[in-house]
Amino acid sequence: MSLPSEVDIAIIGAGAAGLGAAHALKDSPLSVIVLEARDRVGGRGYTIMAAPDVIFDIGCGWLHSADKNSFVKIAEQLNFEIDKSHPPWREQTFGDVFPQKERAEFIEALEAFHDRAEEAAKSGRDSAASLYLDPGNRWNPMIDAISTYVNGSELDSVSIIDTYAYEDTEINWRVRRGYGALMAAYGARGPLALNTQVTLIDHSGKRVRIETSQGALTARKVIVTVPTNLIADQTIRFHPALPVKVDAAAGLPLGLADKVMLALDEPQESKGALPKDGNLRGATMRSAMGTYHLRPFGQPCIEGFFGGRFALALEDAGDGALAAQAIDEIVGFLGNDFRRKLKPLAESRWAHDPFARGSYSHALPGHAGKRAVLAAPVDGRLFFAGEATSPNFFSTAHGARDSGERAAKEVLAASVKS
Ligand SMILES: Cc1cc2nc3c(=O)[nH]c(=O)nc-3n(C[C@H](O)[C@H](O)[C@H](O)COP(=O)(O)OP(=O)(O)OC[C@H]3O[C@@H](n4cnc5c(N)ncnc54)[C@H](O)[C@@H]3O)c2cc1C
Repeated sequence: MSLPSEVDIAIIGAGAAGLGAAHALKDSPLSVIVLEARDRVGGRGYTIMAAPDVIFDIGCGWLHSADKNSFVKIAEQLNFEIDKSHPPWREQTFGDVFPQKERAEFIEALEAFHDRAEEAAKSGRDSAASLYLDPGNRWNPMIDAISTYVNGSELDSVSIIDTYAYEDTEINWRVRRGYGALMAAYGARGPLALNTQVTLIDHSGKRVRIETSQGALTARKVIVTVPTNLIADQTIRFHPALPVKVDAAAGLPLGLADKVMLALDEPQESKGALPKDGNLRGATMRSAMGTYHLRPFGQPCIEGFFGGRFALALEDAGDGALAAQAIDEIVGFLGNDFRRKLKPLAESRWAHDPFARGSYSHALPGHAGKRAVLAAPVDGRLFFAGEATSPNFFSTAHGARDSGERAAKEVLAASVKS
């Protein structure tokens, strides 16, 4: 679409937050446009068909805290089937890869670590989560690996106050056709300009002037939903500059989680075949390792997950490095026969994605308060949403969506006054 020269409200970004904001404004008398740099909606929610029989959520996949997750109702309304079976994260399909006794020891060490860190967080003094590891404990590297999956980052750069502010109800469901597909179906429900990258938000004049790769327009109010790394790097700029927002975003960097999908050439009925929704993870003394979801939904595939510095090193090694690592690890666990059964289908590169530059936000130690700073409106005209602004569901898709709705309500309240 060609851009209008002026609108009441411009929403920047058509990820979960931007879509949530657009829905909340769709019945208002205000003119709204969503400006999106990519050629699709969904942002970090993106489902592809990795093969004709393999649905792959390259970004978000789980409806976390599903009993409080606003996408559950949306999925029901849009007739997207929800799978409510338990996630296999704490299970282990192959006992000899990670024996039961060792697993019990690991879980005990993990829980003791969480108890110490959570207790410390209650004191109100912030610090790095790594300080609460038991020095010399053999399971520390693996506890750190779990942090790279959950936070996208090692424990030395994770704030304890922030991490325990997350509201985990421990109910996690999935969308059978894909979380990204659900977001695409939810859509913007109004004017949407794709392939439109915003470069400058000039709020020096009476109206806000927005410069984009498709030309400029003006708006009365703007909702900014782009990932924190892009605000911190000033890929998207403000005039006059907003150093408080840049600083807040820098305190909430996106960590890294990457996924790889491998085709599995092994009939499910064959003797000793890998089970549906199984879990595979080695007991290693390294944090540099993947974790594997076997035959998700019974599909003929294995999904691998890598996080933190290891994921970044694999991305930096170039296309195919995640798949090669995953195949080597799986073959190491299950035997050489598996090498010929596995074929790379697709892998993510979120750190190298110019419109994300990472996967999900965590607060650096000492920066837990920055989520509220980032979320605060400026001058009744600039409003901020996105997963990083959520006080309790940060790093998630529903936290992002709800933050968009919150920002839209702030816009409406400010519009009544102005
Ligand atoms: C590998 C991975 C696994 C994940 N797993 C889960 C999970 O299981 N469950 C869960 O709930 N969450 C998960 N997440 C996190 C979840 O995907 C995000 O928190 C959520 O999608 C973020 O939504 P958002 O709207 O805040 O940001 P985004 O989705 O990043 O949306 C921002 C939008 O802004 C656009 N944009 C950027 N710059 C510009 C610009 N200059 N001009 C115009 N547009 C711009 C981007 O293209 C993007 O579409 C995962 C993420 C990843 C990467």
